[in-house]
Amino acid sequence: MSTRRLLRPGQLVGLATLFAVALGVSTLIWRDAAERQEMVLRTEFERRNDQIFHGLTARLELFQAVLRAGAGYWAEHPRSGVTEWRTLVQSSQILSRYPGVDGLAYAVAVADDHLGAFTADIRKRLWRDFSVRPEALGVPEHMVITHIEPAARVRQALGFDVATNPQRRQAAELARDTALVTLSSPLTLVTGGETNRDFLLVQPVYRADFPIETVDQRRRAIQGWLLLGMHANALFKAIRAEVDDPLVDIHVRAGGRDDEAVIFGDTELPDKPAFSSVRSLDFAGQRWVLEIHRHLPVGAIPFGGTPLVVLVVSLGLSLAVTAAATLLLVSREQSRRLASHAMTELTRAEKALAAVTASVPGVVYRWLEGAAGGSFRFVAPQAGVMFGIAPSVLVADWRRLPFLPEDLERWQNSLTEAARTALPWELEGRYQDSEGAVRWWKATATPSSGLDGVTFDGIIVDITELKEAEQVLVERERGYREMFERSSAVMTLVDPLAGRVIDANPAAQTYYGYAAEDIRGMDASRISLLDADGWERLRQRTLRGDGDFYRSRHRLASGEVRAVEVHAGPVSVAGRTYLHAIVHDVTDRERFQAELEEKTAKLATSNAELEQFSYIASHDLQEPLRTIASFLQLLQRRYDAKLDDEAREFITFAVDAAARLQSMIRDLLDYSRVGTRGGAFAPTDMNKELATTRASLARAIEEAGAEIVGDQLPIVVADRMQIQSLLQNLIGNAIKYRRPDVPPQIRVSAMEEDGRWVFRVADNGIGIEPQYFDRIFQVFQRLHTREKFTGTGIGLALCRKIVERHGGTIWVDSRAGDGTTFLFSLPKR
Ligand code: ADP
Repeated sequence: MSTRRLLRPGQLVGLATLFAVALGVSTLIWRDAAERQEMVLRTEFERRNDQIFHGLTARLELFQAVLRAGAGYWAEHPRSGVTEWRTLVQSSQILSRYPGVDGLAYAVAVADDHLGAFTADIRKRLWRDFSVRPEALGVPEHMVITHIEPAARVRQALGFDVATNPQRRQAAELARDTALVTLSSPLTLVTGGETNRDFLLVQPVYRADFPIETVDQRRRAIQGWLLLGMHANALFKAIRAEVDDPLVDIHVRAGGRDDEAVIFGDTELPDKPAFSSVRSLDFAGQRWVLEIHRHLPVGAIPFGGTPLVVLVVSLGLSLAVTAAATLLLVSREQSRRLASHAMTELTRAEKALAAVTASVPGVVYRWLEGAAGGSFRFVAPQAGVMFGIAPSVLVADWRRLPFLPEDLERWQNSLTEAARTALPWELEGRYQDSEGAVRWWKATATPSSGLDGVTFDGIIVDITELKEAEQVLVERERGYREMFERSSAVMTLVDPLAGRVIDANPAAQTYYGYAAEDIRGMDASRISLLDADGWERLRQRTLRGDGDFYRSRHRLASGEVRAVEVHAGPVSVAGRTYLHAIVHDVTDRERFQAELEEKTAKLATSNAELEQFSYIASHDLQEPLRTIASFLQLLQRRYDAKLDDEAREFITFAVDAAARLQSMIRDLLDYSRVGTRGGAFAPTDMNKELATTRASLARAIEEAGAEIVGDQLPIVVADRMQIQSLLQNLIGNAIKYRRPDVPPQIRVSAMEEDGRWVFRVADNGIGIEPQYFDRIFQVFQRLHTREKFTGTGIGLALCRKIVERHGGTIWVDSRAGDGTTFLFSLPKR
């Protein structure tokens, strides 16, 4: 069935339009590639141009340098012999190394009236058959060649009077007057039988030690000239040979644009050269114009390498699109299958096209690794964006890649190596972007072998961000690792799913008593006594990414089980979630705490019991004792007359003892009441309390003739009654324990110290030996007999209890015989 019969005329028109549009688009893309190709070739041409121009300038400068050196020699050796001169010229190698140099001669300036003597001298010194020619009459000054190299070829020039040729004379005179190298206008010379366009480079030689500041001085100082003959054809041919491009055409004109001045032009001017350039070179007083052309084979630009690829791909694409459309219209089933095929083709074609032109985030390239080394065959325009370098430049010279120098080497070596193995290739390195920052690149490529070598199609992408992220990750992991290794805390890393210890830091190895290699990989249950539920909870939390804190028990290598607190949290290592545990041994702390709690409880019980006991004892004892005392007193009163002296004395003793026992019990009761029957705390002015004490001790004070000095005292928060009792006891003691015949001097003062009040009650009494400092604060502990000082020995014990109930301490400072100071502290509230 013919396709035409399947399609309606409208569809045919549509297909034709589609094909036309596709062709149009192909043409546009192809034109773009062709323009790029032209750019590459133009750059190449400009480079050739520079090469030619610089080749010529460098050569002329070299000639000038040789001439200047020669002038120096002649000024020093005006009567140089033939052999010396030859040796000098040969050693400069100017004749042998630079094609285009015809000869080097020395001409002497001779005044007309000296010509005879001069000829005779030369004949005597250098050449027996020497004569000056052609004969010039009426010329004031001659310029006679006396030395020339290579002598064999241009011998006939010896004796030639340069002044007889106007062009040469002009150049020589100009050189003489300007003291500069001068270039003659073109001459026609016959050398070696060939007619040539030639030039003379003329260098003046002045007599040594003559001033040459002004033109007149120079004319007087002139001794001769060095003349360098240049053969235009040979010179430019040599330069063109260096360029080594048969398609390059050089035309050189001296001065203006007329034909007369053409001094070099090896081929006919092409009708329309692909590229042309005109440059002028000003040298030694002359201007040379260099016209350089480059021809190209027909179609070199529109059908060159890359454009051709683009054209073929685009045409293929157009055909594929049209064919796909046709088939779609012809048959559904057929077109479905064919369309999928066409799509594959399309994708492939598109890929190829993209490799050439499209914007991908990287530089697509084609590299050919041939026998003579490697080079880019194609570089995508993205090179301009990434490297700031035009693709054509990289195609011309791949070493212009702004890679770090060592990476340039690696690039070359690695590709050469990959070409041998023909395996997919990749390489990373660093480059400098257009702002000078160092960034990372990565190149990948797939090699394919061909006749001319191995072609690598690939892409260079910037991977700086990736590298930096990698670096951050590496550093962070190193940081964690160091922390883990160096920490003195016990740390382990556990795989919660496998229930295994992955790692344990040195502190953990020491703590558990396992070597690193034993603990790593160990079943975690050998250490942790966590039950199944505990493990499950931990697993769940870890997987959710939550941390946990729990108490548990861990078993050491020795078998000992310790109480621990564990801070556990998830960490991600190489993509897996582990449990990071910091283990804190709390066994000792828990034991101490338990012991302390037990002791405190016991102490509280016994204290309470004791207080209860002393209260009950003293309270209950008072009653029978009071009875005993009253009956004894009754006995004393009523039966005094009936008793003898001894009985009376016994009863007195008994009454005394009973009274003493009564006061002891009363004191004891007071003592036991401090803790159990104390009053409320309230602001208490210590000055007032001191006054009250003074009043209640008035009799004792008067009897003893005591003096009590009270400084300004603070207000404290206290149980007022107990404070009175405290002061009464201390001041009472200070009066009681006075030295015989020394009236007591008592001073009560207070000062602030470390956030508390420290009160002092200082006396000038009998003092206390330091070994008793502790004892005196105990119940019923006295240092003296009843006979010497009355008392029950409970006063200071009571004082201590009162001070301690207020949250303070009491202590003593004294030297025997030198007074005593009692100090007690009360918190500042
Ligand atoms: P007593 O009822 O014996 O005074 P205390 O408990 O008040 O009992 O004192 C205990 C002992 O401390 C006294 O027996 C005495 O030896 C000594 N003592 C107390 N105060 C002073 C003081 N101001 N100077 C010298 N010794 C003192």
